[in-house]
Amino acid sequence: MSNIKNYGEHIMKATIAQEKDKKAEIASNYLPPRYKHDHTCCTYLGQYDNCDLYFCPQSGIIPTVIARYSDYSPDYTSGLEAGKNGLIPALAVAYNRAVQHGLLKEQES
Ligand SMILES: [Zn+2]
Repeated sequence: MSNIKNYGEHIMKATIAQEKDKKAEIASNYLPPRYKHDHTCCTYLGQYDNCDLYFCPQSGIIPTVIARYSDYSPDYTSGLEAGKNGLIPALAVAYNRAVQHGLLKEQES
């Protein structure tokens, strides 16, 4: 039984490590973020204009894109729809990058 448990933990650790690698790999395409962002679940998607862009899986239930414009925690805008329909340019760029990196599938958004 403990072998099965260890195996499960091993898989979980490997998955977390892969996720970190993927985040780091995506982030390496871009200039580093300028602002503090307190969401560890997010994948950084580079800068646009005065914003740092992120993809947030939100536990995989309602994924969204985020454009942060200061260190102050509430200073961000988010929304998958606004990104998809291009209403907010920074979110549109975040949306396109999230699709490009395979974080979002166009049909599920
Ligand atoms: Zn997040």
